[in-house]
This record gives sequence, C-alpha cells and structure tokens, in this order.
Amino acid sequence: MTTYADRPWLARYDEGVPADVEPEFPSALAMWRATAKAIPERPFLHYFHTTRTVGEVDADSDALAAGLVALGLAPGDRVAVYLQNVPQWAVVMLGVWKAGGIVVPVNPMLRERELQVILADSGASVLVALESLHPVALQVQPSTAVRTLVTTSELDPLGDDDVPGLLAGSSRQRPATALDLQDLIAQHEGDPPPAVPEPGPDDVAFFTYTSGTTGPPKGATNTHRNVVFNAMTYRDWIHLGPDDVILGVAPLFHITGLIGHLAVAALTGAPVVLGFRFDAGTVLELIERWHATFVVGAIPVYIALMEHPDAATRDLSSLTKVYSGGAPVAPAVVDAFERRVGPYIHNAYGLTETTSPSHVGPFGARAPVDPTSGALSVGVPVSNTVVRVVDDEGRDLPVGEVGEIVIAGPQVVPGYWNKPEETAHALPEGELRTGDVGFMDADGWFYLVDRKKDQINAGGYKIWPREVEDVLYGHPAVREAAVVGVPDEYRGETVKAVVSLKAGTELDPDELIAFARERMAAYKYPRIVEVVDELPKTVSGKILRRELR
Ligand code: AMP
Repeated sequence: MTTYADRPWLARYDEGVPADVEPEFPSALAMWRATAKAIPERPFLHYFHTTRTVGEVDADSDALAAGLVALGLAPGDRVAVYLQNVPQWAVVMLGVWKAGGIVVPVNPMLRERELQVILADSGASVLVALESLHPVALQVQPSTAVRTLVTTSELDPLGDDDVPGLLAGSSRQRPATALDLQDLIAQHEGDPPPAVPEPGPDDVAFFTYTSGTTGPPKGATNTHRNVVFNAMTYRDWIHLGPDDVILGVAPLFHITGLIGHLAVAALTGAPVVLGFRFDAGTVLELIERWHATFVVGAIPVYIALMEHPDAATRDLSSLTKVYSGGAPVAPAVVDAFERRVGPYIHNAYGLTETTSPSHVGPFGARAPVDPTSGALSVGVPVSNTVVRVVDDEGRDLPVGEVGEIVIAGPQVVPGYWNKPEETAHALPEGELRTGDVGFMDADGWFYLVDRKKDQINAGGYKIWPREVEDVLYGHPAVREAAVVGVPDEYRGETVKAVVSLKAGTELDPDELIAFARERMAAYKYPRIVEVVDELPKTVSGKILRRELR
C-alpha cells in the first residue's frame, strides 16, 4: 500500500498542500454561491471578445432554474447538455443544479445513434442543444424520455457585436419545435428561487458517459463531493486564485473541461476564456487578448498551438501554468513547447471516474522520465488519494514493478448509473480499477507503460474498438472486422480497421471509411482500412486485436 510516508515529494515539492483535505463546501453549487456573493462584479466568462460577469451568470442561472421547474423538472431529474464551448454551458449547469437536477454532458460530435443511447440510458427529460444540432435532437427525441427541447445559438452571447471569423458560417435559426434558451431565461427573470432542497455532498452533479469494453456507454455518477474535491485539487496543486485566467480549450462535455475549467472557476472566481471549438489561431489570439494564465488540455492542443505561425508573433507571456492530461505526452513535445512558446508542460492523469485528476505534477516541479521506457511521469497522487499498483490477482506490487493502477480517494465516483454489475466490476469496494498499467518509482512518481483495456486514445478522445467494429459489420461486404490503435504523430494514436470480406465481394477502403464516417462521431471513424484474407485468431476463434497492433 502506498502511504503518505512513501511520498517524499509532498514535502519536497509542495509544502503548501495539506495532506488531509476535506471538501470546503457541501456542493459545487454552494461553492459557486460563495463566489457569486463575494465577487459578483468580476468577469466570469470571456467568449471571443465579449464578457459576462459572475453576477450576470448567477442571475441568468437563477432564472433558468425557475424556468426548468416551471417546465416540470423535479429534483434528481436529468438535463442533457449538447453544446460546444459556449457561455451558455455554465449558465445551464448552474441552473440545473439550482433546480435540483443532474447535468448530463453530451459530446456535440456524437451522431443520432450515439446521442440516442445516452439520452435513453440517462432518462434525461430536458435536452439543451445547439441550434445546429436541433435536427439530430429532434430525430432522436421520440425514442427517449426527453419532454422538452431547448435550443441556443453560438451567436447569442455575442449580442449585436461583430461575429468572429470562426463563427462566420453560423446563422440564427430559432427552430419552432424547441424552446429558446434566451427566451426561457428572459421569461423567468426575477422569479423567486425554486423551492427545492440544496444538493448535498453525496448528491450527483453529473452523469459523465464513458464507453465500455463491451456493451453501451456507462454514466459515471460524479457527486458534488467529487466535484468540489477536485476543484480544490486544481486550485491547491496548481496554485490558482481569482487573479488567474483559465483558457478553456478542453471540451466542456468532458470531465477535464467540467472540472479543470468550470468547477475550478466557480470555486476560485478565475474567469474562463471560451472560443466555441478548438482552433489554434483563435486560441492564440484569445490568450493574448485575455492574458490567460492557466490551461489544461490534451497534448494535440499544444502541438497545434506551437506549430501555428501566429505562435511566434502573439504575446503569450501570461501563460505560465500549463497542464496536459488525458493522453500520453512525449517528452520531446514538452521540450519543443518550452523552447518555442516558453512554459513547461506539466503532466496530469485521471479518468472520467476520478472526476479529472488523481495524479498531478505539482506546479513548478519537472516530472521525471523513466529511463527504460522513455515514459514521462504522469504525476504523483493528489491529496487524500491512495493509489496501488496490483498484479492480476489484485495483490500489491512493490515500488518499480509494473501492474494495474487502482485508485481510492474523494474524487472517485461511487458507481455507474443503473449499472450495478459494471460498478461492482470496475469499483470493487469503491476502489477504481483503471485498466491502465504502470508503476511507481521510489519518489512516488507514477508512470503509465501500457493498457489492459483495448481502448484507443486519439489525442484524449477515447474509442472502443468494439463500437467501431459493430458499425463496420453493418457494411454488406464485411465478413470480419478488427479495430486497433496505430501510432500517429499528432493524435498519438489513430484508428485503423483490418477487415476480411465476404466471398464474391470487393471493397474499396475509402468506401468503408466513408461508410463509417457517416455513422459515428468524427474522432471515431477509421482513418486507415486494410483488407486481408483472414484475421489472426485464437484457437477458440477470438480475433487477436493485440497481434494486429
Ligand atoms: P477519460 O475517461 O476520457 O478521462 O480517459 C481516461 C484515460 O485516459 C486513462 O484511463 C488513461 O488511459 C488516459 N490518460 C489520462 N491521462 C493520461 C496521461 N497523463 N498520460 C497518458 N494517458 C492518460
């Protein structure tokens, strides 16, 4: 068992971090209310060139809460949020909590089939979608419990101001079959707060969906305790305060954006800079404009930023607290970023089920590189978190030995929504089996060297081969399919499909790529297709994905 005594870094690198941390607030909402009371006039959201203050966001979310309750939302009901990185995200999140509800983030890249699964599983009764996603939402709605469709536009927060280049193609649509978010807020401005109980630490704040090795996606139930605890982790381990400015490049539907942008902003009062979707040139401009100081995102973001021609001419000197998480980081990229842009990229590790980080490189400390594997350390376990490295029988392994990483701590979710079996399997006695394989060195730094799971990690986006294979099997020429991750310079890994064909059929790989592309989110479809006579199999006939890799 790894104990505090085994972790000399605690004193060495970060004496300011208390070893025992109890959440300071009973809920993420209480955390926000404290900020709203203390600094209502401060900026909270910068979106392109516009700004909303803490007080404005608080008032809008009050009105939205009243509106949601008037529409019939009851405590514990789920509201799905199908948006890009727009200011409305924060308003909806706070409004849902104020109405006693649970937020279900949905990746706006998901297509009909994928959206349907999440809506049906979560039982969401309200869906807040971008206007441009309204057709998808409308098509899926009849097979779900969604009673109310609310839409909003990425142009709304801009008012009558200039439209930034990135949104030049957007137009206002106001579909007649949905309520408009702005109208809903306006109608309930000044209403008394809904008479619902305040959320407590064990109430669920989010269902965050993660795919499974087999079967449909599972909703991890991040509680308010989980959220408050890891908002504090970001604040304390990265030394964030109200004078920081958070560059919101991680998607807000993912746990990194939810906690590393929105929750830590709600806790500290540091504003978040949003720019709809990631575009390197826009992000460089926004760093300069708003003097962003802190960023957490996946490594392709940093590659794209440093390779953009504007990186040499923009003033990026405010950006000093830089973190990467979600995908492996090559030490060479850290060096190149430091040389070309300035700041050192710290590594952090976590999962959806750990409500963002379980491990962090303490701010100011340079992570060691394992001489044998060349892996950059993912950090040290954060406060109050116990991490074990175990063998196949679940027995503790000594320092330096490679095994599965299992995590217990206040950021670990209690389980998956309505999935007792999966919960028992992944979280036996509340301890998370990560499926990641690695080791701890004598100083307490952790390294990942492999994965137990077949998951593909394309620059932080997780893809389960099974799901892609299921779609490929829908093509009339495909007899057998296996999907694997192959190295890719920018995304780290990309998706490759190896297929065999039915007798008498022919298949152009590009046709299969186009077939898959139509049926799944853009990050999932295979970029490479190879047609073979036979796929490698075990004696029992199981396809050997590992061999293909
Ligand atoms: P997600 O649930 O999308 O946050 O994905 C969690 C998975 O991302 C982990 O199980 C790891 O496989 C991977 N991951 C997260 N952080 C890192 C990191 N710093 N280095 C390498 N892989 C990471």
